[in-house]
Amino acid sequence: MKIDFANLQYQYQLYKTEIDEAIHAVLDKSNYIMGEEVSQLESSLQDFTGAKHAITCSSGTDALLLAMMALDIQPGDEIITTPFTFIATAETIAFLKAIPVFVDIDEKTYNIDTSKIEAKITNNTKAIMPVSLYGQPSNMDAIQAIADKHNLKVIVDGAQSFGSTYKGKTDSNLGDISTTSFFPAKPLGCFGDGGAVFTNDNALAQKMKSLRVHGQSKRYHHQYIGMGGRMDTLQCAIVNVKLKHYAKDLKLRQIVAQKYTEALKSKDLILPFVDERATSAFAQYSIRIQNRNDVQAHLKEKGIPTAVHYPMPLHLQECFAYLGYKKGDFPVSEMISE
Ligand SMILES: *Cc1c(COP(=O)(O)O)cnc(C)c1O
Repeated sequence: MKIDFANLQYQYQLYKTEIDEAIHAVLDKSNYIMGEEVSQLESSLQDFTGAKHAITCSSGTDALLLAMMALDIQPGDEIITTPFTFIATAETIAFLKAIPVFVDIDEKTYNIDTSKIEAKITNNTKAIMPVSLYGQPSNMDAIQAIADKHNLKVIVDGAQSFGSTYKGKTDSNLGDISTTSFFPAKPLGCFGDGGAVFTNDNALAQKMKSLRVHGQSKRYHHQYIGMGGRMDTLQCAIVNVKLKHYAKDLKLRQIVAQKYTEALKSKDLILPFVDERATSAFAQYSIRIQNRNDVQAHLKEKGIPTAVHYPMPLHLQECFAYLGYKKGDFPVSEMISE
């Protein structure tokens, strides 16, 4: 038996008939760009998440760009986030010439340590960007309270957490704008690149729709500097099918996580901690262990794949050397990455 870290083949086989039909319907219409499947998916995403607006886009990375561009983030603006995440979180901030300002993570949830945010707020701070790491929303009550007090925006990087909840609201229905990714190995994946942004704000939704298509207001009239950031019709058709089954798939994912916890709790490991206000989409089931390399080698021998998320926190990445951080600046992130 071969075990995949993310079994994409199985995911396809499970819904093959429906997915093949959906793909061929697009081919028969050849409506590859902004076909009706795009707005169908957006409407289904709104129903699933409870967010007033869902806007699909080309990736989880571009979703973060759209969110920040819609909020008019300018060069030199500071955005508070964590260094213990995938590169795209901070990379997109830097791509817009804004400044990622890192705050260490909480040792239990691995999400931003909200007690350390206020010390990093300056006159240039514009937004807080919590990451729902491994599938679990951050401490959103605390984040929203700080944002309200200091007049900051909240952008949730929900690339790993589609369908998770915080106090009964989905992760996509938190903050000013929430984003997600449909990268194949994410909890709700397409068969290529895709993503979405979510908001309850009509003006932000309008602006993101325009930014996604080169900032156009109508054909060949451009109100903003935007981007080519559409999700293609084929990918939307695929996610349309997968989303119909997602509530069940997510439940199964959570049941698998529970089984891991039952089986591993007597071992000398630190298992995932889910806050009582939250549910996790369990993009990964991440454990902490002393002799990581030995255990990985042993599991590999048994045909069981593992991965390290993430071996190097972002403040120590070469591309962020210019930010001037050094080893020791974020001890929790560093300890957990090791
Ligand atoms: C995957 C991921 C992204 C980027 O999503 P893509 O669709 O791969 O561009 C952004 N942030 C986090 C936390 C991610 O895990």
